[in-house]
Amino acid sequence: MQPDFYLHFSTLSPSVQHFIHRFRSMLQEHVVPIIDDHWNRGVFPQSVVEPFGAFLQEEFGDEEYVFPPKNPLPFRLMKLELGRIDPSMASFFAVHWGLAMGSISMFGSNEQKEKWLPDMVSMHKIGSWALTEPFSGSDAAFGLQARAEKTEYGWSLTGEKKWSGNASMADVIVIWAKETNGGRLLGFLVEPQMEGVHIEKIHDKISKRAMENVHIRLENVQLKEEQRLPNVENFKHVGQQLLSGRIAVSWEALGIAMGVYEAAFSYVQKRTQFGKPISGFQLIQEKLVNMLEEITLMQSMLFQLNRVEEQQGFVRSAQASLAKRACCRRARKVCSIGRDIMGGNGILLSYGVARLFSDMEAVFSYEGTDEMNTLIVGRSITGNNAFV
Ligand SMILES: Cc1cc2nc3c(=O)[nH]c(=O)nc-3n(C[C@H](O)[C@H](O)[C@H](O)COP(=O)(O)OP(=O)(O)OC[C@H]3O[C@@H](n4cnc5c(N)ncnc54)[C@H](O)[C@@H]3O)c2cc1C
Repeated sequence: MQPDFYLHFSTLSPSVQHFIHRFRSMLQEHVVPIIDDHWNRGVFPQSVVEPFGAFLQEEFGDEEYVFPPKNPLPFRLMKLELGRIDPSMASFFAVHWGLAMGSISMFGSNEQKEKWLPDMVSMHKIGSWALTEPFSGSDAAFGLQARAEKTEYGWSLTGEKKWSGNASMADVIVIWAKETNGGRLLGFLVEPQMEGVHIEKIHDKISKRAMENVHIRLENVQLKEEQRLPNVENFKHVGQQLLSGRIAVSWEALGIAMGVYEAAFSYVQKRTQFGKPISGFQLIQEKLVNMLEEITLMQSMLFQLNRVEEQQGFVRSAQASLAKRACCRRARKVCSIGRDIMGGNGILLSYGVARLFSDMEAVFSYEGTDEMNTLIVGRSITGNNAFV
């Protein structure tokens, strides 16, 4: 794994190294050859689902799916690899595995878990997760407008959702709404073909173009009580899940930065100007060192956070937020330098940096914007809530 200046990866156990090598090989075989074309066309590469699912089934099929996982490191390293090779695929996986399956595992009944999780581990069934709305993003804890009304037969769901990843191809969408009378936050397992569910793909993205995000309209969707997640009633529960997502996204940002560094490093050794490889110029070397410094700081922070999690058994919300903030800021900077030192070729997909550069923009905004994570850390260290 490059760059690994402080030997974080070379000191991983041989079994973890083997695991990550197998995962990388799967991505190299099934994602790398087709991803630029799909990204360019704004289409999800369906052919990846089968080998990806087979890999997950082989690695995790014998274990009961539990979220958050007892040993999160393999999943974090998967996020890193996905970021390095294709961030769209990282989002597809995160929404399916961490958010949709994670919600069913944390908040679902035994029947719901039995119905959905085994087929989702192998990706025979795909999950989506819908919290954000057209008029509620960062303030989702307070501002959701989607409503769930109790009826004689169960629930009636009305409202709109925006960005929901994978929903255009999903078998199940976890949809969050406020209870009409009482104001509890409730989660529902909605199947897209149900009457009253309207799904429209968002087409004009400049980031994460190879994964599908949608706009969902819900018009009096009739649900049975068995479709409600029974073990969740407020945003604090969902916040626990998002905390884990924030750490995973920090690893994705690190992966993107490493992918950009690798492509840019290889480029500057081959590209000659003024009669010699541009890697020999002092100003280019400074930029490479700046990139390496940011990446090494990110690696050190994330491996240390992993040790904290192993020792304490948990990570505090502000600790996860600081990682997300720090890694996204640094990865964005690395993307910018990497694109710059490739000159004009830095904006061409075929040179390996442009796609990661563009995808990093979405990573910067989701799982808590820079401002939200700043305010979470600020509240933690001062005791004062500065959100409103
Ligand atoms: C590619 C992609 C995939 C996504 N996938 C999903 C998904 O699968 N499911 C899902 O539910 N959501 C998803 N999202 C939504 C994502 O979580 C939101 O975009 C994110 O939470 C930010 O919300 P927003 O876009 O509405 O921005 P807003 O909340 O409107 O924020 C706009 C700006 O205002 C700032 N701001 C807001 N409040 C304050 C404040 N109090 N102080 C200072 N600044 C403030 C923000 O930091 C930001 O800079 C996805 C988004 C993207 C881009």
